[in-house]
Amino acid sequence: MPTEGKPPVVPLFGLSFAALSLEAAADFLAKEAATRRTAGTAGPLFVATVNAEMLIRAREDAQVLSVLRQADVVVADGIGVVLAARLLDRPLPGRVAGIDLMEALLERAAAAGWPVFFLGARPEVLPRAMAAVRRRHPELVLDGHHGYFTPEEEAAVLEQIAAFRPAFLFVGLGAPRQEAWIARHRPRLSAALAMGVGGSFDVLGGAVRRAPLRWQRLGLEWLWRLKEEPWRARRMATLPRFALLAVAVRLGLAREEPGRGSL
Ligand code: UDP
Repeated sequence: MPTEGKPPVVPLFGLSFAALSLEAAADFLAKEAATRRTAGTAGPLFVATVNAEMLIRAREDAQVLSVLRQADVVVADGIGVVLAARLLDRPLPGRVAGIDLMEALLERAAAAGWPVFFLGARPEVLPRAMAAVRRRHPELVLDGHHGYFTPEEEAAVLEQIAAFRPAFLFVGLGAPRQEAWIARHRPRLSAALAMGVGGSFDVLGGAVRRAPLRWQRLGLEWLWRLKEEPWRARRMATLPRFALLAVAVRLGLAREEPGRGSL
């Protein structure tokens, strides 16, 4: 069992991944958030969902790495990370997709009466996402703001969040921007937990279709995303690079830790 305040972790490519299944991660985070909320701890618990694409970004960009290292809990949001962990003999219990983790936390928030804030997505999509969540959890206390605010409008957004005092703040501004946003504003965020959720509001709002369960179970959600959003092809070119990197690390041909001289 995880010790109080810290989940069991597996070190991978310079980050510490929580060795927790989806349900265990949701339970752990809900408990941590509840403790913080009761204690009035300043600044939220920062959760980052990291996939292969982000690991490659973090290798190439020291700022991205530094932001991800500020996260309290990092979960493996992709089959690539799970397979790499297995290849390196440090298996993780499974994939923890950001959207699944958010949905598991929404259930717990609805049951406990904890307020939730959604920040992100296009102005016409966010209300649809919020309406979909309200249909599923009519008792949930939910507020939100779209993700296309100007730097001048940012103070008002932060104030809206502060006044609402969410237990869970989900930030869907795209990775790694959302993680940088959480890290930058953390001291002023009056939430118990803040987590980047990428395009999850697009899925909830029906703007993007998620892979059918069969594809997810086969570990092919990435292929579905490529089919649905072909403009991702360039970004997803990092996937074969990551696979190659994992093999090279396994064979002792590349350094696992990001930094100078690594692949
Ligand atoms: N987004 C936003 N503000 C911005 C840019 C993007 O709210 O200035 C939202 C966008 O509408 C989408 C999400 O961020 O809902 C990014 O989704 P994507 O699937 O690309 O996430 P990623 O895979 O990059 O984490």
